[in-house]
Amino acid sequence: MPKYLSVIAALALTATASSSQTAPQKPSLVVMITIDGFRGDYLSRFGNQFTGGFSRLLAGGAWFTNAHQDHGITETAPGHASLLSGRFPRSTGIAANRVGVFDTNSPLLGFSGGAGASPARFQGTELFDWIKGADSKARALSVSAKDRGAILPIGRAKEGVYWYPGDGEFTTSRYYAADLPAWVKKFNERLLPQKYAGKTWAPLLPDSAYKEPDDVSVEGSGKDFVFPHVLPTDPDQAASIVRATPFMDELIVAMALDGVSALNLGRGPGTDLLAISLSATDAVSHRLGPGSKEAHDQVLRDDRTIGVFLDSLFKLRDSSRIVVVLSADHGFTPIPELASADANPKPTRVSLFPALAAARARLAQAGVDSLAIDVDQQIVLMDRAAFKGKKITPESILDSFEKDARAINGIARIDRFANLARDTAKDPVARRWSHQFPANTNVEMVATLTPGSLWGTLLVASHGSPYDYDSNVPIIFYGPGIARARRTEFVRTVDIAPTLAQLLGVKPLEKLDGIPLRLK
Ligand SMILES: [Zn+2]
Repeated sequence: MPKYLSVIAALALTATASSSQTAPQKPSLVVMITIDGFRGDYLSRFGNQFTGGFSRLLAGGAWFTNAHQDHGITETAPGHASLLSGRFPRSTGIAANRVGVFDTNSPLLGFSGGAGASPARFQGTELFDWIKGADSKARALSVSAKDRGAILPIGRAKEGVYWYPGDGEFTTSRYYAADLPAWVKKFNERLLPQKYAGKTWAPLLPDSAYKEPDDVSVEGSGKDFVFPHVLPTDPDQAASIVRATPFMDELIVAMALDGVSALNLGRGPGTDLLAISLSATDAVSHRLGPGSKEAHDQVLRDDRTIGVFLDSLFKLRDSSRIVVVLSADHGFTPIPELASADANPKPTRVSLFPALAAARARLAQAGVDSLAIDVDQQIVLMDRAAFKGKKITPESILDSFEKDARAINGIARIDRFANLARDTAKDPVARRWSHQFPANTNVEMVATLTPGSLWGTLLVASHGSPYDYDSNVPIIFYGPGIARARRTEFVRTVDIAPTLAQLLGVKPLEKLDGIPLRLK
């Protein structure tokens, strides 16, 4: 076993094996593994180098290769909210990260920084509510480095939901509890994040296993972009920086396994839910790009980490009663500056502000409040009431904005949202946008970049577009009643929750966008 897994391995050894009982038909545990920013093509691209969790899941599970987060803003919060709700952002209400989970009314426990977090803006129910509707004793545990990664797969249920703000301790917010339970305090007292002080991240395999060049200075904006990467020797600094390294995923897994033991999760006779969201792939890709040697290595490390996690979990609980689903909240756009020379149009970094400035100047000239039009990255909002009694109309301002925006390098299209909702059959970009906002939205227009381009405010690399490279994610179902298969038909992440509901024999409590997938 590689040395870096020693933390988890030690944990697995202390785990007590469950006594084997007569296996009832219903799964006792559903495990949702979300890998943040995990592109749909990683599993086939690096497949021959897997030896751990990915190997196990691919060898025994139903793998959907053409699965998509089928909405317009492919970000972390909307992606996590769709996975186990079976609904698009237009009905979960979580349309973008900036809607998200921040909530000053729900401060974090024992952590002075940060604004607090809760699912206050999440609308409707999720898989766990349906499970609990059938069995009031059901419990859920969700762990992630990110608050939104932990909160949104569960929905509004007040269960064990923990994340890692980056000060060395896992926590939750007042929405869920007044105090941390003993097992979380005990986990924090072990100071595992601090133990990564001085640790080196070097490639897992020999250099010949990586096709990617390492010496690419646009990665990391020229900072710390070649292997090896060394964590600070100061334990507190290391506990903060570990959040952006592959080691964070090991901590999530260790925390989740402790929780399974402490909470007696998955012992039956009912079904419990464990959700883990692994953020390191996203952090590494944002800083160094999804095509970097580091991103490749991170994928291999997740294979190993998830392998140890499943081995440990199956020692703790009867694997014949565990259903595992693996997916992601979004894919990733390569670094625009590294696009091939013949890319046409050439990927670039874009802002709608020139069009906004022109529109505001027109408003001011006509005596209308110039803030009546606003741009929130890729969406255009308008306060129509501000035009009352004025000589110009909202339509004339939107028309001129549209014309100006189209002239900006890197803008592929700008659509009136109302028009997109009408025709979505043959146009995947329009379809994805129509899944983003409800029909009564105040969003007037949505802008789509040229393929490979990024909004100017984003990091070295990012995601968030309605294109396949950002929407395509893996979906694997693994466990009892699921046949090994490699499936290429188009499916959506909103299909995961209804599929699980059917498998568990529970009823969704509302109308879903997704449909159950065939697993046999
Ligand atoms: Zn994400």
